[in-house]
Parts: sequence; structure tokens; C-alpha cells
Amino acid sequence: MRTIIAGNWKMHKDRRAAADLLAEVVSGLRSSPSRVEVIVAPAFPFLEMAAAMVAEEGVRVAAQNCHQEPQGAYTGEVSAAMLHSIGVDHCIVGHSERRQYYGESDDVVGRKVAALVAQGITPIYCCGESLEERDREAQFDVVATQLHAALAGQDHQVYGRLVVAYEPVWAIGTGRTATAAQAQEMHAFIRSELVTVAGEEAHDIPILYGGSCKPENAPELFACTDVNGGLIGGASLEASSFLELVRIAETVMA
Ligand code: PEP
Repeated sequence: MRTIIAGNWKMHKDRRAAADLLAEVVSGLRSSPSRVEVIVAPAFPFLEMAAAMVAEEGVRVAAQNCHQEPQGAYTGEVSAAMLHSIGVDHCIVGHSERRQYYGESDDVVGRKVAALVAQGITPIYCCGESLEERDREAQFDVVATQLHAALAGQDHQVYGRLVVAYEPVWAIGTGRTATAAQAQEMHAFIRSELVTVAGEEAHDIPILYGGSCKPENAPELFACTDVNGGLIGGASLEASSFLELVRIAETVMA
């Protein structure tokens, strides 16, 4: 199984700051090479620059969103083909911030997944329950519904490429993280649901944990059998903490 550390930079960093952060990450990985797959997700305007900077480095570049249609009159939107044309090879979809602030439904997110795979781009599909849903113990129903609604019935190519990120909404940017037991329980559940959706191929789908993951809590989280790395927000904005997370993932893999 691959191990992945992906940094979601969200709407942070201007051009200079994005270039500096990426240069630091690249230089850290050059001096300490890793078998972990490292992905960075800067904002749209800096994706092409990022792709050029990492072309020879083995680091991958992800967008944070794309539109589900191949082209058309969708002012302000970016298609999967456009991302492909500038060297982007991964794309986060269904992040809870997009679901919450832009009303993205599982149907729309599922179409984004298909549009990306049609362009040879790996979707990082985010799912996870809110605090209110966990409090009423609905987390498994919520996540199962998200997975089935967005991923069932996709072309088999999709399952061969897909990465899933479990991100409990109550842990994103809150400093509150899932315990290793909570993460493992949900990741094992996601794996079993993915088997019902995708068949045996699901055993090769990496499932990342996201939600206030940082060097202090990562060793426990990454040690869980069904946690195959992390989708990192806040701690990806400093090269030192991001590289430390890569190092921890590498150690756990060994
Ligand atoms: C995220 O938004 O994908 C995320 C995991 O953020 P944070 O690490 O800051 O909680």
C-alpha cells in the first residue's frame, strides 16, 4: 500500500510565499529522500509554477477543486482538462469547506471524480461527519451515504486511481483530532464500504486521515492499519512541520 502525505494550502500563501514554501519542501526532501508520496495543493494561480518547480523532484501537485463539466459557460470555474494541461496530477474534491460554503452535493462531487479520472488526474475524495452527526452516533451512516452517493457506479478506472480522505469536520482546523481508535474504526469501515462499491480493488485504495493532524499526534494516527497517510491543512503551511509529518509517515511505513 502507498503512503501519502498531502498538504492542503487552502486560500493561504501569495506567489512568493507559495514558491518559498515549496522550495523548502523540495530541498528538505532532497536532503532526506522519502518513499512517501508527497503532494502539495496550492491555490489555482500557483499550480503551474508548482508543477514546474517539482517536475524533476517526485513531488506531486494537486488542485483543491475542479468543475464537473468538461467546459462551458461556468464563470470563475476551472476544468479537469485545464488542470491536466498545466501538469496537475491530483485534485482534492468534496472537502467539507466546499460542501459547507458552496453547497457541493455528493452527486456533484461524484461527477468531479469522474471528470478528473477522464483526464488521468487522481481524485482525493474527502468524506466525514459533522460534530452534531458524531454526537448522535450517525457518523457511519453519514460516511457510508457519502461514499455510495459519490462513488458507486463509477467506471472501474476510477477505483484504480482513487484516494479517499476521512476528515471528521469537527477536527478540521479546530486543534481537536480524532483518537487513533476513532480513526482506525472509521478507516476500517470506509475500507469495507469501498469493497461493496468497488470490489476487491478497494484494498489498494489509500485512505488518508485529515483533521488537525500534526507531528505530535501523527505517530499514533499513522500507525493505524487502515490509515495510509494524511491530508494536512494547518501543519502543511510550514515546511518544518510538513517535512516532519513525511518523516513520521516514512518511519511508520518501515
Ligand atoms: C483540511 O482542511 O484538509 C485539514 C485537514 O485541515 P487541518 O489539518 O488544518 O485540520
